[in-house]
Formats: sequence, C-alpha cells, structure tokens
Amino acid sequence: MNAPDCQRQDELLDALASGQWPDASDRELRAHVAECTECAALAVVATSIASDRRDIEHLASPPPSGAVWWRMQMRMDREAREAAAKTVRRTHSAIVLVTLGALGALLVITRLAGTAWSWLADTMPRPAELATLQHLAPSMTTVVVAAASVLVLAPIVVWLAVAEE
Ligand SMILES: [Zn+2]
Repeated sequence: MNAPDCQRQDELLDALASGQWPDASDRELRAHVAECTECAALAVVATSIASDRRDIEHLASPPPSGAVWWRMQMRMDREAREAAAKTVRRTHSAIVLVTLGALGALLVITRLAGTAWSWLADTMPRPAELATLQHLAPSMTTVVVAAASVLVLAPIVVWLAVAEE
C-alpha cells in the first residue's frame, strides 16, 4: 500500500472512522480539507461510503432472535408432520398392496382348490366301489389298538431319548 501523499490524511481518516467528520472535527482540519484536493476527495468518497453503509445496515436489519427461534420451531414441526404423513402414506400403500396381493393369492388358491377338488372327485372311489373294497380295510379293533399303542409308546420313546442325554 502506498504511503499517503498528504500528511493529514491519517488524521482525516481517524475522524471519518470515528464518525466525527465534519461536525466534531477541529477547525484546522476542516480548513485543511477545504484547501487540499487529496483530502477533499478522500472526505467526499469516505462520506459517501459511510452513508451507503448506514443505509444498507438500516435495510438489512436482521429479525429478532425470538422470531428466528419461532420460525425454526415452526419449520421443525412442519418437517416432523411431513415425515409422519409420508410414513403413513407409505404404510397405507403397503397395506393396500399386501391386501391386493392376498386377494390375488386367494383367487389363485380358490381356483387351484377347485381344480384339485374336481381331480380328487374323479379319482375317489364311488360308494358302490367302496363296498367291494371293504374286506381289505382293517377291523376297528385293529385301528384302536394301533392308535392306543402309539399314544402309549410315543411318550415312553421320547422320555427314553431325553433321559439318555
Ligand atoms: Zn491534505
């Protein structure tokens, strides 16, 4: 940075920076600025910049902290509500899709069951055929003894298997 040509520019800059120019400055400095072209130009430019700065500060006044906090709370609440609504919408869509899938599966199972039932009805023996096959079936006593032996022996087998371990 170049050194100022006029020896009083530093003094003028101090007065400008402190806001004392021109009213609170001493008479000698004001008389020098009126005669010195460099200091006069510096005073005009610096006064203009300071005026612009005041205008910008006035226009760009930040909102109070309470308002900022309130807006932040409102935004967080809104985002939380939106996230909850999104979750509800996704869950609703999933429920609708699963219900539609279950209905489709039910239709397919019903159709398959009808086909299987008609196949079973065709392959099952007729009552007249069952009468001719009756002599091949075991007697009721044999079935009861076999079921009772399974019911008695199964717990014993399980107990022996557990007791060995
Ligand atoms: Zn000067």
